[in-house]
Amino acid sequence: MKLNEHQLKLFEDLTQLNGIAGQEDEIRNYLKKAYTELGYELMFDNLGSVIAVKRSKNKKAKKVFLVAHMDEVGFMVSNILPNGMLKANAVGGLNSETLLSSRVLLKTKDGNYLKGAISALPPHLLKGTEMAKTEIANMLFDFGFTSKEEAIENGVYLGAMMVIEGKMEILNENRILTKAVDDRYGLVLGLEVLETLKNVDLEFDLFVGGSVQEEVGCRGGMTSGYLINPDLAIVLDCSPARDTSGDNMALGQLGQGLLVRFMDGNMIAFKELLDFQMKCCKEAGVKYQYFDSPGGTDAGNIHKLREGILTLTHCICARGIHTCSTIFDTNDYLAARDSLLTILRHLNTKEFDFLLGARK
Ligand SMILES: [Zn+2]
Repeated sequence: MKLNEHQLKLFEDLTQLNGIAGQEDEIRNYLKKAYTELGYELMFDNLGSVIAVKRSKNKKAKKVFLVAHMDEVGFMVSNILPNGMLKANAVGGLNSETLLSSRVLLKTKDGNYLKGAISALPPHLLKGTEMAKTEIANMLFDFGFTSKEEAIENGVYLGAMMVIEGKMEILNENRILTKAVDDRYGLVLGLEVLETLKNVDLEFDLFVGGSVQEEVGCRGGMTSGYLINPDLAIVLDCSPARDTSGDNMALGQLGQGLLVRFMDGNMIAFKELLDFQMKCCKEAGVKYQYFDSPGGTDAGNIHKLREGILTLTHCICARGIHTCSTIFDTNDYLAARDSLLTILRHLNTKEFDFLLGARK
């Protein structure tokens, strides 16, 4: 295994916590504890994003913000039927084809978990029914209740969080299967940066944190970005690998390194920053690959804040994101880590002057 025991534990801990947009408490509490134990002070925006702060001794310190989102895709209970089955709204982008007969966890009012499944009609009964259309609105979530009253007595309420179960499995030294790699990848990386740089003096103030509600419109990235007002924001996120289509020419191949994301659905990258990112990859001796995406990240909102904020994405790709069976490559993670640490080591007054002055 290319990852050490500690890195594996971080991935296991963070991918197995559950948190849809607006209900990121478990992840926030984990990060609060981890950041505090490392000796960092905490900051919060009013939506629930949490940020560790590492101050510089430099009086004219610039500010750098590393951010990853805490939320994952999932569901909210939207109706409790008389027979005890539940209907749900999707929270974030889900491919309904991946869902039928999945095992589901529901978090009750008291914070306990109930086990259930998304019902699927067997082929005998399917023909000509509404359920023949694989739409989340038609799906029934079954937790074994016999009535609406029983469901409510057991802590089910409208708005309750549900997520698909997705235990972590180490497939081999290169590949790990788990859920929520989008974007616990970024939270693991942020923590490793904080651990690695704990006793290193930096020329800039470093802010590292978890944002809320990215999957429903990059909301916490906007509010935490506004709060910190960084000179440079680096968004750590996990993008869809395209090699699942069988096209080995498509951009985004698993195991081919860091994504140099030149454009996506909500940001055109700052070319000078991409050059800097690639220079740091070369220096770190890690693989990188160009990437574009119709989707977006927190960078989309952060770079438009105030007068505009210099923003870079620092992403890896994974297969099957937004499902409970995501596979990522440990070498991609290490490429992202080593190149990010190289970027942070190179950020000095001269580099900031160049980057911030490049378009003036
Ligand atoms: Zn993401």
